[in-house]
Amino acid sequence: VDTSPSNFIRNIIDDDLNTGKHQSIQTRFPPEPNGYLHIGHAKSICLNFGIAEDYPNAACNLRFDDTNPLKEDVDYVHAIEKDVSWLGFKWQGEVRYSSNYFEQLYSYAVELIETGKAYVCELNAEQTREYRGSLTSAGKDSPFRDRSVEENLDLFARMRAGEFAEGSMMLRAKIDMASPNMKMRDPVIYRIRFAHHHQTADKWCIYPMYDFTHCISDAIEGITHSLCTLEFEDHRPLYDWVLANISIAAKPRQIEFSRLNLQYTLTSKRKLAALIEENIVTGWDDPRMPTISGMRRRGYPAASLREFSKRIGVTKQENTVELASLEACVREDLEANGPRAMAVLDPIKVIITNYDEAKSEQLVAPCHPKDESMGTRIVPFSRELYIDRADFKEVGNKQYKRLKLNKEVRLRNAYVIRADDFKTDAEGNITEVHCTYDAGTLGKNPEDGRKVKGVIHWVDAKTNKPAEFRIYDRLFLVDNPAAEESIDSALNAQSLTVQKGFVEVSLADAVAEKAYQFEREGYFCADNTDSTAEHLVFNRTVALRATF
Ligand code: ATP
Ligand code: MG
Ligand code: MG
Repeated sequence: VDTSPSNFIRNIIDDDLNTGKHQSIQTRFPPEPNGYLHIGHAKSICLNFGIAEDYPNAACNLRFDDTNPLKEDVDYVHAIEKDVSWLGFKWQGEVRYSSNYFEQLYSYAVELIETGKAYVCELNAEQTREYRGSLTSAGKDSPFRDRSVEENLDLFARMRAGEFAEGSMMLRAKIDMASPNMKMRDPVIYRIRFAHHHQTADKWCIYPMYDFTHCISDAIEGITHSLCTLEFEDHRPLYDWVLANISIAAKPRQIEFSRLNLQYTLTSKRKLAALIEENIVTGWDDPRMPTISGMRRRGYPAASLREFSKRIGVTKQENTVELASLEACVREDLEANGPRAMAVLDPIKVIITNYDEAKSEQLVAPCHPKDESMGTRIVPFSRELYIDRADFKEVGNKQYKRLKLNKEVRLRNAYVIRADDFKTDAEGNITEVHCTYDAGTLGKNPEDGRKVKGVIHWVDAKTNKPAEFRIYDRLFLVDNPAAEESIDSALNAQSLTVQKGFVEVSLADAVAEKAYQFEREGYFCADNTDSTAEHLVFNRTVALRATF
């Protein structure tokens, strides 16, 4: 089995199984449905679902952490489900929502009130901030902190009933206004929001806060190990406090790991949303986006993202991963699994003057030079072809192993040709190269022992299909775009360039998202949104070799 390498979290799990603390392992992946998943989420998905796959009797839940109705939408729910499935993972049972537990969460809040551990506070936002104090100074107790249990119960019930305005009241846990951990200074656990919720509609006008919701949801679901990123480290005492102070038996353990930071890449839904709002990209699934949907559209295989997650590992050290290592995973996968095909992105015409005008051959080419199981394809050949503009020069030095005037080159999967003449337009651009072919060189070397070193790709001019090629580059020129004050100055103006050329006819029915190696050009896939039979569009998934 292709299991993941060990890491400190798996070591903890191993211990918990060995000591008998747990008989089975339960994890969860808890996205907030307020945007699309990105490559950072892929790390968390692979970690949580990977544990579920690798341990016996283990499972992973998909839970939407949906306590903030203003920012959430059911479209995001569907996009997230699709992305997790596409990555190749199965969640246990039905999808879950924190909002499934609103009634239970409410009861636990009542329980905290009853035991004197929560109170309704009427400080406004500014006062609350002021009373909270700072890292260097203790906070002050709210004047509402010592309300009676009866009064708190009454006010909380009336908050739920919709009697009070937004912002006028909140429920706070009564912990310690002098705690060195700011999170423990009487955190808000419920607030009033007259907002329609994508799951619970208008049933609620009070919504629980993340820190109150998450730990209880974990406990309700029997989560054993609640894995989250390091910024939640100082939330852990609150996570534990809530569970210790309500009558719930399960005590899941929160463990933090470092988030994925990727060079040249933003990994924050909020910042990615801003790129869409500012029309810097076309949407969440723009192939330049580091979203799972963007990478899928670009042609990244799901397996390459899983491999990447495996390679970066799971630690508590903050670091930034090189974009090259993600691309290496994509390239390695496609080198092995991407069928070969030919496309000419910047075409000039080749006319084979000694080839019969009426003739056409159906040449057979392997789909992969090292993998016969991928089969063969038909590559038509006739008198007129296209080659890439960069593959012909009137004169070229020894290093230039392509087509030169009066010299020979091999057409990939076909014959050896010699350039005899060429034509130019008024500006001197080459428009046509006139060649002769050696009919005895199909699949073999010239009989007289002539050495022909170069090989170039081509497409047949009769049967080819016109295509648009979208060449993508990183969106940002700076290593850490998140640190920039203004994103605009960090943008790569060349993140998308479009070329118009031709593809071999076998690509007419290329399946969207499935990447091919266009020989000598790179890995490309048909665009899942814009490519049609009448107008083929191919995205460059990744270049053949590392470019940075
Ligand atoms: P964002 O800041 O992009 O909105 P988030 O953490 O708020 O991210 P959630 O939807 O809450 O987004 O994330 C779901 C899970 O994915 C959380 O457990 C979170 O810790 C994890 N996660 C988010 N970003 C990363 C990242 N860059 N690396 C690893 N895990 C991440
Ligand atoms: Mg979050
Ligand atoms: Mg967020």
